[in-house]
Amino acid sequence: MSLKEYQRKRKFQETPEPKGKAAEAGKNRFVVHDHYAEHAGHHHDLRLEMRGVLESWAVPKGLPEKPGIRRLAVQVEAHPVDYINFQGKIPSGLYGAGKVKIFDKGKYQLIDRLGDRISLILKGKKLKGEYHLIKMKGRKNQWLILKTK
Ligand code: MN
Repeated sequence: MSLKEYQRKRKFQETPEPKGKAAEAGKNRFVVHDHYAEHAGHHHDLRLEMRGVLESWAVPKGLPEKPGIRRLAVQVEAHPVDYINFQGKIPSGLYGAGKVKIFDKGKYQLIDRLGDRISLILKGKKLKGEYHLIKMKGRKNQWLILKTK
């Protein structure tokens, strides 16, 4: 995904978020943001450094911390790699308005990525272990995230 949609949705004179540009080769980092959104309510955002951007999913109930739990993950626009350290308050009235904090971050190891399924190992402080993101058939941006071990 390119950053066009990310940039189109934001007013960079008004938001503290980075404008960003696509970066070179990834370091396989991830971040989970705690987003206290005025519109959508509190949710987590999972962002994986992949192909020069942060591929992003909004996870309304947060990532599972134990095996056997599936959670909805809605894919959203890719974010710039600079966003990996972003914390702040997006002003009221702007896209994504509300406080953003880092819930967890670290590296991940990609096990494999086969079209509609991404398998990886998260190596965060809170989130550790094997996770799978599986795209739901016939749904535009809806995926499931589950933990296996
Ligand atoms: Mn969000």
